Amino acid sequence: MESVTLADVERQIAGGFRLLRFTPAIEALFTRDYAAHRVGLTPIWALVGTLIYDLAHFGDISMMADVSQRLFLARFAVFTPFALFTVIALRLWPSARNYDLLAIAIGTLGALLPMAVGAGSASPYFFAYQTGSVATFLFFVVALRPRFPAVLVGLFMLCTIQFATTGLSGAFDPVTYAGIVTFYLTLTVFLGMSAYFAEHKERLNFIHQLRGCLLQAELQRQSERDELTGLLNRRSLARIHDRIWRESGRDTQAAVILLDIDHFKRFNDIHGHIEGDECIRAVSRCISRAVGSKGHTFRYGGEEILILLPGTQAEAAVAMAQAIRAAIEILAIPHHGLEGSGHVTASLGVASGRPSATSFAQLLADADVALYEAKRQGRNRVRRHATPESPAPAIAGISS
Ligand code: GH3
Ligand code: MG
Ligand code: MG
Repeated sequence: MESVTLADVERQIAGGFRLLRFTPAIEALFTRDYAAHRVGLTPIWALVGTLIYDLAHFGDISMMADVSQRLFLARFAVFTPFALFTVIALRLWPSARNYDLLAIAIGTLGALLPMAVGAGSASPYFFAYQTGSVATFLFFVVALRPRFPAVLVGLFMLCTIQFATTGLSGAFDPVTYAGIVTFYLTLTVFLGMSAYFAEHKERLNFIHQLRGCLLQAELQRQSERDELTGLLNRRSLARIHDRIWRESGRDTQAAVILLDIDHFKRFNDIHGHIEGDECIRAVSRCISRAVGSKGHTFRYGGEEILILLPGTQAEAAVAMAQAIRAAIEILAIPHHGLEGSGHVTASLGVASGRPSATSFAQLLADADVALYEAKRQGRNRVRRHATPESPAPAIAGISS
């Protein structure tokens, strides 16, 4: 689903799919779904189909006594092993194409065996006997339900077998033969049309289900993420810090980094809000890259970003904050309101503690105090909040 967007699906629904074909990316998903569903049903249809097919041997005995032994071999020595082979083959190579090919093969073989043997019979019941092919037509189209092109190929094969064997048997006068041909052609038209509409409906269900899944994923993303930056939002913050605090062991540490872009009001005033938005986005991307899977990054406020680092000691958190500060400086986003480098910078406050002993609100307040210190002491720097547990110098990682 990763390569298909909600917009792709909406376009596909609006454009329709009368030729029973989606755009390649959606078609690939449909094919995967189709193969999984059909291959999953194969053992059931193989069992039911073969059982009924083999039970028809009683019909062979009563109607086609002179060739019933050959029909016995055809049903039990050829068709039944082939049905077993289809189940094994699809288990080993489960693809939509293989399913369709094997469906055509099983339908063709199912009709060919009794009709080819029956055509050599002198039985007066051959007219009644050949109506058994209707069951094969129905089994192929309605039960196996291959994709429409395969249905067309299969119906063509079934008609060819029916017309050839009944014609070559010499058992029917021209009027009866014409009746048989007309009957099977009519059946083919109805089955072909119903197969088309059934697949169209199946595709419609599929595309709407896909749309539902994508919509749900999008809603989930919107409820968890900030629109501008794609970072986690404050709603997610409550959920995630709650989980970290619940799951932390007695001696586990956690750290919070609070970041604020320096003199951003001025940036907006000079460069405009649109560039301001782009600057927040660029800084957010840079932070996400630096944090990676080591923590969770939230857009806390306008140009304030909060990083939550579970299982992280104070020193590691300070090192991370310094790396982020340096990475933002390297971005070298012009900020004409700043003297010195003239590039966008940020200040960061770090706080850490044990979730078993400190609340998240307390850590956040501590990080805020450290951030205020960083601002007060000239910006573009990292400050760490000292605690009785980690009485490290309050100043850490000064730069610029
Ligand atoms: P300091 O160095 O003390 O942090 O100075 P500052 O100007 O950055 O301080 P302050 O936090 O008061 O200003 C933040 C500014 O960020 C105010 C607001 O105009 C701007 N801002 C907040 N959210 C957005 C946003 O989504 N887009 C843009 N373009 N600007 C925003
Ligand atoms: Mg601010
Ligand atoms: Mg600011």
